[in-house]
Amino acid sequence: MQRVAVLGATGSIGASALDVIARHPHSMRASVLAAGSKVEALLALCRMHRPDHAVIADAVRYPRLRDGLRDAGLATCAHAGSDALDDLVGSDACQTVVAAIVGAAGLSSTLAAARAGKRLLLANKESLVLAGELLMREAQAHGATIVPIDSEHNAIFQCLADGSRPTRITLTASGGPFRGWSRDALATVTPAQAVAHPKWSMGPKISVDSASLMNKGLEVIEAHHLFGVPSEHIRVLVHPQSLVHSLVDFADGSTLAQLGMPDMRTALAVGLGWPQRIASGVPALDLLAQGGTLEFEAPDVDAFPCLRLAFSALAAGGTAPAVLNAANEEAVSAFLQGRIAFLSIPDTVAATLDAMPAQPADTLDHLLAADAFARAAARRHIATLATPA
Ligand code: NAD
Ligand code: MG
Repeated sequence: MQRVAVLGATGSIGASALDVIARHPHSMRASVLAAGSKVEALLALCRMHRPDHAVIADAVRYPRLRDGLRDAGLATCAHAGSDALDDLVGSDACQTVVAAIVGAAGLSSTLAAARAGKRLLLANKESLVLAGELLMREAQAHGATIVPIDSEHNAIFQCLADGSRPTRITLTASGGPFRGWSRDALATVTPAQAVAHPKWSMGPKISVDSASLMNKGLEVIEAHHLFGVPSEHIRVLVHPQSLVHSLVDFADGSTLAQLGMPDMRTALAVGLGWPQRIASGVPALDLLAQGGTLEFEAPDVDAFPCLRLAFSALAAGGTAPAVLNAANEEAVSAFLQGRIAFLSIPDTVAATLDAMPAQPADTLDHLLAADAFARAAARRHIATLATPA
C-alpha cells in the first residue's frame, strides 16, 4: 500500500491527486493531508479520505481542526505549522509526497521530501525557481525520485524515460485568456478576466501567471533544473489547443511529444504509478472530436514581457530567479486584490530585478534572504503605483 502525503490538498492539484488516489484503493491511500488555512475544506477531505494525519499551516485554526476531527469520530492526528509538516513529510507516515502548495511557501516541505528520499510528485514549480540547484542536489544526494507534475515537464519526463539526452526542449503554452491581445488592450483587464483560463482549471495564482506568460517563464527555469538543459536549448511555442504538452528533439532528428486531454490527473497518475501506467479517469485523446487541428505560433514577448524577464533571470543566475519569483508572487497577489493593474505585474518584476542585481547564491539562507529582500522591494514599488479605476 503506497502511503501518499498530499500537500495543498484543498487546492486544484490536491483535488486531482485525491481523485486519482481514490481510484486505486487496493494499492494506495492518502495518509497525510495538508492545507494552508481552509480548515473546513480540510476537515471535509479528512472525512472522505480518512488520513492518518492532517496539517493546517495556519496555527490559529488548529483547535478547529483538532475538534472537527474528534467530532467526526476520526482517528486522524491534527497538526499545525510548517515545521510539523516538514517532520511528517520526512517520517514514515508517507512514501510519496505530492508537493502542491502554491508559491515559495512550498519550498520547505518540498526540500524535506527530497532530503528524506521520497518519491516527490513536484507541482510546486516555485520551489524549483527559487532553489532549483539546491533541490536537485538534495534529491540526488538522498535518492529521491522527482516526477514533475507540471504538464509540460511531465510530458518531457515521459519523452526522456529511456534515458536519452535531448538536444532541445519545446515547452508548449496555451497562450492564456489574452492570447493575441495588444499591450494596450491588456492595460485594463480585471482579475476575473485573468483567472478565466480557456483550457485548464487551476488555482488563482497560476491562472494569473498563465495570463501574463510568467507561468511559462517559471516553467523555462523549472525545465532547466529538472532536465539539465541550458536556456539556449529551451524554446516556447504557443499551442492554443493545449493537447501537445511539450516536445523533445534528439540528435538524430527525431522529435518526441506527449499528447493528452488538458487534465492534470494524467500527470498525477504518471507520478503515482510510474513506471506502471494506471487509470486516471481521463479519457484517451480523440483528435477529431477535439477539432482535428493542432496549431503553433511564436509567443508575443512585447505584449507579455514576463517570459523575457524569466529568460533573463535564468541567464543572470544566482539570486535572480528567486528575485523574479518573489516579486511576481507579490505583484500577482496585489493584482488579485485589485490594488494594481495587470501590466504592473511585469513592471514590478522588472523594477525589482533592476533594484537587486544578481548575486551568487549557493546556500538556502542566501536564497531565502534574496526572496525576503525582493518581496520588500516589490511591495515598496507596488506602494508607488496607482490603484486601477
Ligand atoms: P491552489 O491555489 O488551488 O491550491 C494551493 C494549495 O496550497 C491549497 O491547498 C492551499 O491551502 C495550500 N497552501 C497555500 N499556502 C500554504 C502554506 N503556507 N502552507 C501549506 N499549504 C498552503 O493552487 P494549484 O492550482 O493547485 O497549484 C498548486 C501548485 O501546483 C502551484 O505551485 C502551481 O504552480 C502548480 N501547478 C498547478 C497546476 C494546475 O493545474 N492547477 C498545473 C501545474 C502546476
Ligand atoms: Mg504547466
